Amino acid sequence: MLPLVHTAHDFRRACQEARLDGALALVPTMGYLHDGHISLVKAARQAAPTVAVTIFVNPTQFGPSEDLGRYPRDLEGDLRKCEAAGGSFVFAPAGPQEMYPPGFQTYVEPGPLAQPLCGARRPGHFRGVCTVVAKLFALSRADCAFFGEKDFQQLQIIRRMAQDLNLGTDVVGRPIVREKDGLALSSRNAYLSPEERQQALGLWRALSQARARFAAGERDVAALERVASEVLDQHGLRADYAEVRDPADLQRPPQADAATRVFLAAFAGKTRLIDNGALGETG
Ligand code: AMP
Repeated sequence: MLPLVHTAHDFRRACQEARLDGALALVPTMGYLHDGHISLVKAARQAAPTVAVTIFVNPTQFGPSEDLGRYPRDLEGDLRKCEAAGGSFVFAPAGPQEMYPPGFQTYVEPGPLAQPLCGARRPGHFRGVCTVVAKLFALSRADCAFFGEKDFQQLQIIRRMAQDLNLGTDVVGRPIVREKDGLALSSRNAYLSPEERQQALGLWRALSQARARFAAGERDVAALERVASEVLDQHGLRADYAEVRDPADLQRPPQADAATRVFLAAFAGKTRLIDNGALGETG
């Protein structure tokens, strides 16, 4: 079984030792690992001889009415998958108090990148994400850390944070891993009933439709957003947002180009799902 540490103290020590042997790569997750997470572990293993995987359902990034209490967990399964993918050890904090001991009061507040999209719909979410990731970077002093484009806004915010705060960890983004039918893998897909699983495909279809319109010459941002929204509706999804944004600053561009991204968030029943992709890509 893969070495497992439960305290911040032991995690720091394990990382210190690992760094004596060369580069250390970090893969932060909330667990219930799927092939999207595993792709990050594999990419990390290509980049460094030691890969530290963290599994922590971080309470500070959940809103009061969100799914913190029922977020799926499977530590044993996760350890097996990490090991098979080339992970070296896992840090799974024993509980929230391990990361937020009594008296904790210092948070990392991201800037304008955290205002639109999920930042607008989930107040405080990215503050919680930045705080926990900054702590993981500080504990591990990893040379590089791997994040999925599935959470593209998060990736850009963390990149910016690492640069702004001179954290010394290179932030590496990796492509979205999808099911055969296009649905982006997510731990939250486990919540979906068979009917909701069908509805969820609407996210991929909305993205694909917007791409098809773009390929046919449409460059108007509002028109592309309308196409995406309509597809979400047609699938019985409740759209949280369907927005076309510049990948670098996440602002609305005057006109779409191939690198411009479609960002989607929608509810299938009670489950909130997200997806995104560049208009000029197909994957
Ligand atoms: P989470 O456990 O949801 O916090 O995700 C941990 C990391 O895995 C984040 O960097 C996510 O962006 C990444 N991730 C989640 N789903 C996917 C996916 N389908 N493809 C690639 N990366 C993913």
